[in-house]
Amino acid sequence: MSQRRLLLFDIDGTLGRHVNEGRNAYDKALRRVFGPNASLGLPQVSFAGATDLAILQHLTQDAPETLTPALQETFFDVLHQEYSAIYKQNPFGLFPGVQEMTEHLSKQSEFLLGLVTGNIETCARTKLGAAGLEKRFRFGGFGNEHHDRNELARIALKRANAFPGSENGFSEIWLTGDTPKDIEAAKTIGAKAVAISSHHYSREDLQAHQPDWVIDDIRELLELLKTSKDS
Ligand SMILES: [Mg+2]
Repeated sequence: MSQRRLLLFDIDGTLGRHVNEGRNAYDKALRRVFGPNASLGLPQVSFAGATDLAILQHLTQDAPETLTPALQETFFDVLHQEYSAIYKQNPFGLFPGVQEMTEHLSKQSEFLLGLVTGNIETCARTKLGAAGLEKRFRFGGFGNEHHDRNELARIALKRANAFPGSENGFSEIWLTGDTPKDIEAAKTIGAKAVAISSHHYSREDLQAHQPDWVIDDIRELLELLKTSKDS
């Protein structure tokens, strides 16, 4: 059996975007679980490339004893409830071409698709499920599992290696994301780093972190995959 190529994807800013919905859900969940003042620090927090656990740890850093494992779990449950309520009104907006590209890739046995996202798993599944993409990404590393995105990449790779049909390993690993943290995570696991420019990070911003490629549109990934195979 020939080796497959592993394609890992970030979600927010890479496959699609919600403008303020994630932040709004976070705000509501913080107030519900930690009290009315808990979200005061939220406006200063950058969500781009961050993991949900890192954001939560940052916002509770003045009273870390309050963040017990049980309360952390409760918070993520409530966060998912708030996200779900928002998504019913306003589903996650996929970028042009993502639907077709992921359908095309997921049908080819040459590729295995997974996620490396700062989203907690329940929110990631809801987000992609609302967009009809959930079954195309059958495993991943998620933002409730570690605060460090590099570790999430390692978790995703470990799951990919254990996935049926992966016994021979992968001929190539690719990680596509929209922030310098995605590039760093790609390098951590020896993946080719594809950076997609966004309103957060321009081509120049991303280039400074030395990804293998910078693209402006996710659809360019198909051409890169083809070119890489031919070379
Ligand atoms: Mg992102």
